[in-house]
Amino acid sequence: MAKPAAAEKFDVIVIGAGPAGYVCAIRCAQLGLKTACIDDWRTPSGEPALGGTCLNVGCIPSKTLLEVSEKFAEIRDHGARFGVRATNLSFDLASMMAHKHKVVADLTRGIAGLFKANGITAVAGRGRLLSNRRVEVTSPEGRRSWEAEHVVLACGSVPMSIPAAPIDGRHIVDSSGALSFDQVPGRLGIVGAGVIGLELGSVWRRLGAEVVLFEAQDRFLSIADEAVSREALKQFSAQGLDIRIGARVLSTRVDKDAVVVTTEDAKGKREERVDRLIVAVGRRPNTHDFVAEDTGLLIEEWGMIHVDEHCRTNLPGVHAIGDAVRGPMLAHKGSEEGVMVAERIAGGQTRIDPDLIPSVIYTQPEIAWVGKSEAQLKAAGTGYRSGQFPFAANGRAQALGQTAGFVKILADEATDRVLGVHIIGPQASELIAGAVLAMSFGASSEDLALTIFAHPTLSEVMHEAALAVHGRAVHVARPKRTP
Ligand code: FAD
Ligand code: NAD
Repeated sequence: MAKPAAAEKFDVIVIGAGPAGYVCAIRCAQLGLKTACIDDWRTPSGEPALGGTCLNVGCIPSKTLLEVSEKFAEIRDHGARFGVRATNLSFDLASMMAHKHKVVADLTRGIAGLFKANGITAVAGRGRLLSNRRVEVTSPEGRRSWEAEHVVLACGSVPMSIPAAPIDGRHIVDSSGALSFDQVPGRLGIVGAGVIGLELGSVWRRLGAEVVLFEAQDRFLSIADEAVSREALKQFSAQGLDIRIGARVLSTRVDKDAVVVTTEDAKGKREERVDRLIVAVGRRPNTHDFVAEDTGLLIEEWGMIHVDEHCRTNLPGVHAIGDAVRGPMLAHKGSEEGVMVAERIAGGQTRIDPDLIPSVIYTQPEIAWVGKSEAQLKAAGTGYRSGQFPFAANGRAQALGQTAGFVKILADEATDRVLGVHIIGPQASELIAGAVLAMSFGASSEDLALTIFAHPTLSEVMHEAALAVHGRAVHVARPKRTP
């Protein structure tokens, strides 16, 4: 990576090159701003790598393992149904991991290439915000400080830990450790049945592990619409994920090559023996020792950097984006904040609608949603109509052999404007884009109902759900209006 001269001054210094920071840096440079990006990520072999959590130990490696494990499980579990016979089917975990490694390495190198092509000064080191938009950088070359007109804080997040299950990196691991097991655990425990628990639990279940998830909350997947989380619990349980709701982990101890987990639920205390334990109980902003105290930067509870709707902190010229600020901890949310900040620094008026950030869980079936859930509409006293349509009645889903789930559309009772779309089913991650687009343009359920969707596609389920909002779904025995 390039080394800027000590006296060099930048228009923008971005600290952190995850999906929030690297996107912001690229957009700043494209807008003609002299930009530096400081990042301290190192690969296990000690090489600097751009892309942050998302590319190195998050979205990309997890989705790669989800894809490859799904290919294997699809043939093993459903091949015969489609007339595909595979004798002695097996997999090679080392090759799967090598594929994951290559995908990650290609993409992180791609960002380095984009930085170079856009004239961004990339610095491998640890950045710290000082007063007056000065940034101190500590790297193997020593400690220096630079100044900028604008500083963008994009330090991301790290896994949360719990005293009952301290990470030892071997028997008890966080999500990064769980992406790199060198063999499939016979019995795998997971603390937290949230997004990471379900995605990584699915990977290892497909590859043969017995998986038990301990979830402290009494409701499964409370971030999703209730109808979706009910269906998800049914589907995941049928796949063999043993999901214990209302189960608190009280303590753990390593015994020989296993972990003994003591949990407590409504039925009382019990002990479970697992070969490996993943702790996936959420993430917290990575703001520890990131800012000199005399800057006066406002940091909220849990280390979250305080920002307004345009990601401005309380300090002039200092912005913060991504997992380090309020809102969902999602890569696309951070990237869009990065673009917004870059464009506003350059004099633009770009803004983000927080209601239109889609969420996806890449399990099988996939789960995706945007906008309000039914419970949120009820709590706000908003009148709504609901239209729901099952994948089971869709030709493409039948052909795929993936008929579980549905699309549910919630529309304002008075205006018919779409307020929320909730999907559980095949390719939900791709289908949700249509819903986000429709909602971005303020579409009504009628607009979606009048749209022509290609046949045979999964997207026809979205069409039928829109028709169902006013009781007009076609492929049903007796259309009915809900609620
Ligand atoms: P990060 O990606 O965390 O990047 C921050 C960067 O800043 C890091 O490189 C860090 O080393 C660096 N840094 C921090 N402090 C300093 C400092 N003082 N000096 C220099 N550099 C510093 N989100 C999705 O949208 N879709 C998914 O499918 C998805 N899957 C995930 C799977 C897993 C297993 C995990 C753990 C997360 C997943 N996420 C997913 C969440 C996603 O990874 C984060 O929301 C996203 O990476 C946040 O981006 P960021 O740029 O804010 O921070
Ligand atoms: P999460 O918030 O999704 O789930 C954590 C779960 O752990 C919750 O259900 C919570 O109730 C439970 N929990 C908390 N403390 C517990 C305890 N002591 N015992 C048992 N259960 C406990 O967090 P995560 O799964 O760690 O993921 C972190 C973040 O990463 C998420 O917020 C998400 O935004 C992001 N992420 C996104 C994706 C995606 O977009 N597909 C994938 C992975 C991660």
